[in-house]
Amino acid sequence: MAENKSKILLFGGSGYIGRHMVRASIKLGHPTYVYSRPHSDHSQVLNELQSFGAIIVKGQLDDHVKLVSALREVDVVISALAYPQVLDQINIIEAIKVAGNIKRFLPSDFGCEEDRIISVLPPFQAFLDKKKRVRRAIEEANIPYTYVSANCFGAYFVNYLLRPYEQNQEITVYGTAVLNYEEDIGIYTIKVATDPKACNRVVIFRPRTNMISQLELIALWEKKTGRSFSKIHVPEQELVTLSNTLPDPLNIPVSIIHSVFVKGVTTDFEIGGDDIEASVVYRDQLKFTTIEELLDIFLHDPPPKPALAAFE
Ligand code: NDP
Repeated sequence: MAENKSKILLFGGSGYIGRHMVRASIKLGHPTYVYSRPHSDHSQVLNELQSFGAIIVKGQLDDHVKLVSALREVDVVISALAYPQVLDQINIIEAIKVAGNIKRFLPSDFGCEEDRIISVLPPFQAFLDKKKRVRRAIEEANIPYTYVSANCFGAYFVNYLLRPYEQNQEITVYGTAVLNYEEDIGIYTIKVATDPKACNRVVIFRPRTNMISQLELIALWEKKTGRSFSKIHVPEQELVTLSNTLPDPLNIPVSIIHSVFVKGVTTDFEIGGDDIEASVVYRDQLKFTTIEELLDIFLHDPPPKPALAAFE
């Protein structure tokens, strides 16, 4: 497989993070296909991606024949399906087995490294378990894979944590995490999807410049905006109680906040063995946007409302 000539098919390519991957794939010169539902509610995004050069393939996730024929056209498959559709990826795995030509599959991970983190609250564990089930099915089928741990989507979480879209005086403080800008996640995902050394490996996006405590984030934001905020510290027990009492799926965001920010699961393990840390391996070719640069983007071009629907 020539590294820069792979044909790439994306599932969920019209979605929040998927569209960054589609744009990156086209920008990096890959013939790019997007498998999208016949009645997708993202037709505007799909039109935009098509105008950039993406080929839209319409089909349902349970249409085996359609899946196999779409897969036979490409080399690499990336799934950025939404969380409720995680187990639908088993249909994609079944179709990859039949198609027999796929050189790499990246399932819809793109968060915490689910095989490495331990002791998370039950709603988040159930969420991770579904994603792990998909990983095990890929390995059992001997499909070449790359698992991407992108950590926190930067704009998504900065928006949620700082709430720049409202004239707030108070900010709730949880803890420390790794925040990566969505455009970078798109570019690095395409890079690893087509890089032979990332085959059958976990790739973690954990640049040192992007590990930040929320207090540091608030201090930077105060410096940039000239405003000052009161910090509301939430007792850990309050988050645990909420995760036990909120109905599913509302209990998931609060348990993610607990694991990521209070327990620090994006930063608390050593990257070693076979794992790749993207900012080190690609340091001569690519650079992650720093948190400071991300805040500059927010300062001059603030997103109008929370990017993260589940956290509203
Ligand atoms: P979205 O909610 O934006 O959805 C992605 C796509 O899924 C949609 O555009 C849609 O494509 C497709 N889809 C297929 N079937 C359905 C269906 N029945 N209902 C709705 N959509 C459907 O996904 P995200 O970008 O939010 O999430 C992608 C991945 O990123 C997930 O694994 C998620 O867990 C992870 N994530 C990580 C975060 C982080 O901070 N690390 C934050 C948020 C998500 P179409 O309409 O074209 O068919």
